[in-house]
Amino acid sequence: MSEQTRREILKRGGQVALGGALATAGAAAAPRLAKAAAERQWGMLVDLRRCIGCQACTVACKAENGVPLGVFRRRVRTLMTGSFPEVGRHFVPISCFHCEKPKCLPACDKHKCYDGQSETALYKREDGTVLIDEAKCKPGKKPCMTACPYNNIFYDPLTKKADKCTFCEHRVDQGVAPACVQTCEGGALQFGDVKDPSSAIARAIAANDTKVLKPRKKMNPSFHYIGLDDDVQKTVEGMIKGKQLRPTDLENDR
Ligand code: SF4
Ligand code: SF4
Repeated sequence: MSEQTRREILKRGGQVALGGALATAGAAAAPRLAKAAAERQWGMLVDLRRCIGCQACTVACKAENGVPLGVFRRRVRTLMTGSFPEVGRHFVPISCFHCEKPKCLPACDKHKCYDGQSETALYKREDGTVLIDEAKCKPGKKPCMTACPYNNIFYDPLTKKADKCTFCEHRVDQGVAPACVQTCEGGALQFGDVKDPSSAIARAIAANDTKVLKPRKKMNPSFHYIGLDDDVQKTVEGMIKGKQLRPTDLENDR
């Protein structure tokens, strides 16, 4: 069985199995799909006060999406702040932020690295999710990876194409929460429509002091943090400037 086929089966299997699990669990984590797509902006809220750095979300993402060894669609950065004896240890989950104004998208268009005459491989759905059409993406091309200031696109060693978080669109389209959200041990992750003021996520964002990473880029990332203090923000922004992470980088970043 080819690796590609294995990954497709994994995706479909995960959909069915987790859909069933949610049904018995009362579907508490499933986002509402009542509104028209154009009015939505799917987004994520991460409460850093609740993240315990267990990496369950990282593993769930890899299993759900068949992400190859050595690369990640999602990662939880571990960092230390302060100096002895006043030190702090922090965990910061990061994946594609599905920006309102993504820099990856024009890079795909400008460099014409996609297969096809009129459509870019990278595109934004009406619900705000930024996706890569694997069939249109040309192997060996990386302008989108360079353009993303968050370093959130990686090079898939099996397909030789760009890959990244999809907000588990295959699950969300069925009314099921992304795998990372459903798996989160600490209850740190929330997913939903940030444009709907009555949604739980929009209310939580409004009720808390939330931040996004690199706000000066004016890309409006749809990934909000509670508990991101200035020191942690500066440190993690410095870390994500670097090159693609290796598995060993997930711990002891400093
Ligand atoms: S985080 Fe990077 S890859 Fe994701 S939408 Fe924004 S610019 Fe594109
Ligand atoms: S599963 Fe939740 S608590 Fe564990 S590392 Fe991921 S976000 Fe943090």
